Amino acid sequence: MSRKFIRIALMLIILGVFALTGCDADEGFEPNLDMEEILANAGPGPTETPAAPELPGSSAIPEYPIEIPPPPCSGGPPPEPEPIPEPTPEPTPTPEFRHVNIPILMYHTSSEYNPGALPELYVRPSEFERQMVWLIENGFTFVTFEDWDYLYRIKRPIMITFDDGYIENYTEIFPILQEHNVTIVLFLTWMAIAGHGFTEDMILAMHDSGLVVFEAHTMTHVDLRTVGTQRLRHEMAETNRLIEELTGRMPIALAYPGGRFNDAVLAMTAEYYRFGLRHDLGMHNTAFDNFQIRRIRINRSTGLDTFIRLVTQ
Ligand SMILES: [Zn+2]
Repeated sequence: MSRKFIRIALMLIILGVFALTGCDADEGFEPNLDMEEILANAGPGPTETPAAPELPGSSAIPEYPIEIPPPPCSGGPPPEPEPIPEPTPEPTPTPEFRHVNIPILMYHTSSEYNPGALPELYVRPSEFERQMVWLIENGFTFVTFEDWDYLYRIKRPIMITFDDGYIENYTEIFPILQEHNVTIVLFLTWMAIAGHGFTEDMILAMHDSGLVVFEAHTMTHVDLRTVGTQRLRHEMAETNRLIEELTGRMPIALAYPGGRFNDAVLAMTAEYYRFGLRHDLGMHNTAFDNFQIRRIRINRSTGLDTFIRLVTQ
């Protein structure tokens, strides 16, 4: 029993040394190793004289707490390191929303020497290219309806639209778009695939280029004011279905054939689209009606000076 007293007293002394030398593991102290060395030097080890098991409550010696509380470290527990605050990225300043002018140019088709029966519809490819180059050199950004909600953040936005779906959109215009990285919106009348020689392969090639976004221009180019509700719905819903089936993208804008509409047409358009486009009235502003979006017509006879005046008015 007295040996056990000595061992407990030794442990208390050792623990006291811990307290004096510090208890921070960061200072390189290894208590288990030192404890074994000291006990080995102090006398027979525990393996030579194993203590007899004691029955609970039978011991006559004063009870010491079995679990000795850790010696107090001077200054208390080591202070928690100050959490390093995560650097918060500077928020990108968002310009305040404002309405903007957006010139939306309306073309139909293009031919250098063979203007067809409606010559004003056939802008010369060379003239179209001059116009696009002028826009690029003067800092305009080509946009589509996907960009509409952010137009106020875009430098000099402009939208180039083509109506109907003439084959020259592919043979004459598409190479110019690729050459100068110009994006356009093409309002497709579905019957143009049969009537004007446009093919599904051409549409897919243009769509896949990312330079042509296809929107709707009805199935048959009928004057929408003259048809009943059922036909009106068919002209919109079926065009959407076929364009989505072909390109994988549902149209969100409708160009009224001939620019003609009435209240019934406007109401039905709002069911299927976010935007409806007229043919006329010049410069559009985003504060105006989204279902009477104005356009600037560009004809074969439109010279570059007139073109510049129209897009900068
Ligand atoms: Zn048209």
